[in-house]
Amino acid sequence: MPIYEYKCQKCGHITEQLRSMSTADDATACEECQSKETQRVQSVFAANSGGGGAVPDCCPAGPMTGGGCCGGMCQGH
Ligand SMILES: [Zn+2]
Repeated sequence: MPIYEYKCQKCGHITEQLRSMSTADDATACEECQSKETQRVQSVFAANSGGGGAVPDCCPAGPMTGGGCCGGMCQGH
């Protein structure tokens, strides 16, 4: 399951959440001030770590040959 980051619009705190892709855009409460005014941001961790289990292997490696990337679920392509 991918890790998503949600930035609080009130205090700026980043809350990390493990979520399925279907609920990724749902609002989450800030763990710092409990505000529901959070916005999903691109996870730097997922983009730079080379995977770490959070990102399918095909994403940092580039387009797959045949079958499509991540079964069409990858947002990077
Ligand atoms: Zn907050």
